[in-house]
Amino acid sequence: MPHFPDAKAVVRALSPDEPIILNRPHAAARAARFFVEKFPGKSLYAVKANPSPDLLQILWDNGVTHYDVASIAEVRLVRATLPDAILCFMHPVKAPSAIREAYHTHGVKTFSLDSAEELEKIVEACRSEDGEPAQDLRLCVRLRVSSEYSELSLASKFGCDLTEAPELLQQARQHADWLGVCFHVGSQAMTPFAYVQALERVRIAIGEASVVIDMIDVGGGFPSVYPGMEPPPLEDYFQIIHQNFYNLPVAYNAELWCEPGRALCAEYSSLIVKVEKRRGEELYINDGAYGALFDAAHVDWKFPVRALEDDLIKPEMDFAFYGPTCDDADYMQGPFVLPEDIQAGDYIEIGMLGAYGAAMKTDFNGFGAAERIVVTDEPMASLYDGSRTRPAADNVVSLR
Ligand SMILES: *Cc1c(COP(=O)(O)O)cnc(C)c1O
Repeated sequence: MPHFPDAKAVVRALSPDEPIILNRPHAAARAARFFVEKFPGKSLYAVKANPSPDLLQILWDNGVTHYDVASIAEVRLVRATLPDAILCFMHPVKAPSAIREAYHTHGVKTFSLDSAEELEKIVEACRSEDGEPAQDLRLCVRLRVSSEYSELSLASKFGCDLTEAPELLQQARQHADWLGVCFHVGSQAMTPFAYVQALERVRIAIGEASVVIDMIDVGGGFPSVYPGMEPPPLEDYFQIIHQNFYNLPVAYNAELWCEPGRALCAEYSSLIVKVEKRRGEELYINDGAYGALFDAAHVDWKFPVRALEDDLIKPEMDFAFYGPTCDDADYMQGPFVLPEDIQAGDYIEIGMLGAYGAAMKTDFNGFGAAERIVVTDEPMASLYDGSRTRPAADNVVSLR
């Protein structure tokens, strides 16, 4: 990958007609070291947030040893990129062939489940050739928890209810060498209280099940910084999670895990786009809903933007973006705040696209191409550069 100091240098050198993804390896490395050093347990990288092999290698080089994978393609990819990584298959609904290949070919031992059918599926798929049940399964029962403190819900699709959890934990215990409970509070959890509430459910479930629990996995949901979304420092999340984990009735040597996706890679990438046309307050740019801006279009996510021209001098105003495809849904309402005199031919950098952004580009309508370039400047915002301070106390629910 070519290296440049920043987006302006890229535009000056290349005047690119296609969007360009800018990667910041130092930002991903810093995020990885933060979790490895400060989370009071093990951090699994949730690969779906950005499966780029370059990123996987950076995380590995900075101490992330465990990877949360959700499909057999992710299993193969991480195994091919990081032969010694520990893979955990944390999708609660898997194809039997995927479980079989993961266990027998790629050495995956950890599987999540949220139903008795899935438990049965895992036990059958992991039998040896002569039909012996596996002795080394590490099973993780996924509990449904509230997403009310998160910007993106993950509450309705997966997870068993508190009424089903005790029995499922007892059944899973009979097949597991090691048994855990996991959940996901939803993505971009804006307060650590989300985890307090979820861990309270875990307490009820394991209290009623009366089985030995070897691991608690608090899932993903750790936030990044976006316009209008300024979370408390991650240290607050870690401290509250640790405190509430410590009070659970689990094995004395039970482990604490988390599965950050967004928080590990949001700062890794930004995007250079070119303005193709201006129509009043709407800018037609060359990337969009089918490119790296899926979330900007479909869930109105706000990403930071900056104009890359030095001669734009007017005050800033709100713009909306149209993407390049012929689909009306290729529209991003924003608002994106840019200089009033921006026009066709100008370039914009859109920041914080390392998670669920750069990884989501498709080739729809022939607009998928994007070169990748390494830049060495800072991301547009960071949770890890020492600039974060604790916001006003009323933002932090129940910081005890
Ligand atoms: C998506 C996902 C994650 C990562 O979530 P983030 O909000 O990006 O941290 C972690 N675990 C599971 C099971 C997921 O589905």
